Amino acid sequence: QMLPSKAEGDIIDSGSELFQSHLHPDGLPVLKKAKGHYWYPADGPRILDACGGAGVACLGHGRRDVIRAVNAQMESFTYASYAHFKSKPVQELSDWLIQSTDGKMEKAYIMCSGSEAMEAALKLTIEYFRWVGEPQRTNFIARHESYHGTTIGALSVSGHHTRRVPFHSLLSPSNFHHIPACNPYRQRLSPSETDTALVARQKAELEDVFARLGPSTVAAVVLEPVVGAALGCVPPVPGYLAAMKAVCQRHGALLIYDEVMCGMGRIGGRLHAWQRLGDEDGDDVAPDLQTVAKGFAGGYQPASALLVGGKVARVMGREGRVFTHGHTYQNHPVVAAAALQVQRAVKEEGLIWNVKLRGYLLGRLLKERLGQHPNVGDVRGKGLFWGIEFVKDKATKEPFEPDLKVAERVYIRAVRVFRVLVYHGQGCAGGGRGDHIMIMPAYNVSRKLVAKIVERVARAIEEI
Ligand code: PLP
Repeated sequence: QMLPSKAEGDIIDSGSELFQSHLHPDGLPVLKKAKGHYWYPADGPRILDACGGAGVACLGHGRRDVIRAVNAQMESFTYASYAHFKSKPVQELSDWLIQSTDGKMEKAYIMCSGSEAMEAALKLTIEYFRWVGEPQRTNFIARHESYHGTTIGALSVSGHHTRRVPFHSLLSPSNFHHIPACNPYRQRLSPSETDTALVARQKAELEDVFARLGPSTVAAVVLEPVVGAALGCVPPVPGYLAAMKAVCQRHGALLIYDEVMCGMGRIGGRLHAWQRLGDEDGDDVAPDLQTVAKGFAGGYQPASALLVGGKVARVMGREGRVFTHGHTYQNHPVVAAAALQVQRAVKEEGLIWNVKLRGYLLGRLLKERLGQHPNVGDVRGKGLFWGIEFVKDKATKEPFEPDLKVAERVYIRAVRVFRVLVYHGQGCAGGGRGDHIMIMPAYNVSRKLVAKIVERVARAIEEI
C-alpha cells in the first residue's frame, strides 16, 4: 500500500511522528507560511525566527527576488547532469565562490548538503595522497565535540557521541581520531591559564596524536573554525587556528575546515569564518579544503559546496586526474540560481557588515540580560552566532543531569509561550552533558528585533 487511506490531516500527523519529541506529544506543529523573520503555524500566533532552522535562513523567509531567480531558472531548464553539461548559474556561482577566498581556493564543487560536501572532502583527501605517492596517509584527526554530518564518512569523522553510538558497527574504528575542541569555558585548566598557554597545550595534544599515529600516516585534521551545534557557538581563542595549521604543515597533512554552519557570513565581517578569525589574529589561517552549506542558499534550495585550495587543485589538474566522485544532483542549476541570488542580496544589502554590527549588539544584550543568571554558565559567540550554556552550578560549572533536558525545555517554553524559535542542543562528547541553546537570526535582523529576541529568550530561560 503506497499511501495510508486516511484523511490529509492524519497523514501529516503520522508523518511528523518520525521526528516527534517527547515535548511535542501531539506531533510537531504544522507550518502554513513563513515570511521575513516569522513562521506562521496553521494553529496559533506567529513565531519569531531566532535560529533560521539550524542557522540556514540567512535572508529570512519568502524573499521575492530569490523566488524569482529560482523560477526563472526553472523556466529555462530544471536539471542537467554534471556529466553531460556545464551551466551558466553553476559556472557563475563556482567562479564567484573561488573569488571570495582571497586567492586561496581554486576549485568548487556544488552539492546539496553539508554531509555530502564533507564526504567529498574526505574522499578527495584520500585521492590526493594517492596521486602524490603517499597512499599510507589514511588517518583523520578531528575533535570530540564536533558534528560533520550524518552520512557514514562524515559521521566517522564527527566526535558526536549520541549520533555515533547507534551506528558503531558502520563507522571505521581505526582511521578517525579525536582530540578536545578549543572551548575556553571548559578547556582552561584554571581561570589563570592564558589563551597563549591554552593554545600551546592544545597544539601539543595534536602533536601527540600525530606522533602516536606516525606523522606520515595522517591525511588531514578536520575542524569547525567556530563550533556550532556540537557545543553551541564556540569561537576559538586567538592563535588556535594558526597553531593547528602549523602542525598540519609541519607534517604534510591537509587542513579541512567545516564551515557548513559558521561560514557564508554567519559570524560577520567577512564571508568565510576563517577570513575574519585570521584577520583578527593577523594570521593566514586558510585551509586546504573547506565545506560550506546552510547560509549558502539560505534554505531556498538545498545547497552546499566543497572548496579546494591551490595545493590540492594543482595536483588534480595534472595528468588528466579526475576526482572519482559525483552525485546525481551535483551542480544542480536551480540550486546554483538560488545560491547566486541569495549571495547577490547579501552583498548588495551590505549584510555581512550588518551581521558584525548586530552581532555586537546581540552579544552585549545577552550578556547584560543573562550573564548574572545563576544557571547561565557561558554566553559566547561571534556575529549572529551566539550560544548560551546552562549549568547547575555557576561556580563549579557542573552541568545539569541530561535527563532534565534543560535546553530542550527552554526551547519548548520559548516557542510555546514566548513565540520565539531557538535551536537547542546537548553536549555531544559523551554523557549528553552541556545543555545549550543557539541564537542565529537572519542577517538582515534589525536592532529592534535583536532586542525582542533577547527579551523573549531571557524570559523563557528565567521561567524554566
Ligand atoms: N557540518 C556541520 C558543522 C553541521 O552543522 C552540519 C549540519 O547541521 C553538517 C555538517 C551536515 O550538514 P547537512 O545536515 O546539510 O548534511
